[in-house]
Amino acid sequence: MNEVKPGTLYLVPTPIGNLADITERAVEVLKEADIIACEDTRHTRILLDHLGIAGHVVSYHEHNKKEAGPKLVSCLQEGKSVAQVSDAGMPVISDPGADLVRLAIEAAVPVVPLPGPNAALTALIASGLDARQFAFIGFLPKITAKRKKLLQDMGHVPVTLIFYEAPHRIKETMDTLIKFLGDRKAVTARELTKKFETFERGTLSSLRSHMDEEDPRGEYVILVEGWNEAMEEETGEETTWQEEALKLAETLPLKEAARQAAGKYNLSRREVYQFLLKK
Ligand code: SAM
Repeated sequence: MNEVKPGTLYLVPTPIGNLADITERAVEVLKEADIIACEDTRHTRILLDHLGIAGHVVSYHEHNKKEAGPKLVSCLQEGKSVAQVSDAGMPVISDPGADLVRLAIEAAVPVVPLPGPNAALTALIASGLDARQFAFIGFLPKITAKRKKLLQDMGHVPVTLIFYEAPHRIKETMDTLIKFLGDRKAVTARELTKKFETFERGTLSSLRSHMDEEDPRGEYVILVEGWNEAMEEETGEETTWQEEALKLAETLPLKEAARQAAGKYNLSRREVYQFLLKK
């Protein structure tokens, strides 16, 4: 098989735990590529050794991408083939690679994606949650205001939401999800494709309580059911903030009532103020 063409960037997914999950085509591309660009050369070496591939590896990651990216594109323009891998799963998805893809496209270098392992989709298909439509969020932003804005925006999106999180931050993230999305049906998918693969199904708060009994270990995907109308009726959220705002407006200036109600329900002050103005 002659899988690899000169001057082409290949995006090669690698296993997320089970080394047998690499595809034949991925192995072929890793064998034939002139350069393998990887996040952590030592990590990728383990996979390459397992596959019996020598491979010319170079590092390409968040901290060197500004210098390494243009160098790789020059190599591609000289006719070398490059296989891009991350530590696990699909490059680009919550992993480095997006900038290299952009640079390659700008330089009219062909980009060929290979299908393969990905934690989000692997978790979704066995979650039991609605998989017809979903939104991949990945890691929440570190900056509090951005995290809040994103979750407020997602709060009324009627599709399954998929998050990534590291074990040492997962409790805090579950608390944040409960705060902004309410106590929805949710699933955690832990250590996918590995020996201790575990799916826990429940609500955000029941899954969170379980984490106090047993400290989270390993890698997790969190899946949360999307918004639906019944949810609104059950929580009574919409009437509650409106009622609250109206009640406050009985004794306070409208702006102050809007500020307090918006703060309590994590809404925009303007939205609450506009609502009060119309009343
Ligand atoms: N590029 C990868 C992909 O395609 O899935 C994701 C890389 S991201 C840096 C790592 C995160 O993916 C972890 O923190 C975890 O949320 C999720 N993840 C990766 N492997 C996993 C596994 N075997 N089981 C559960 N989650 C996993």
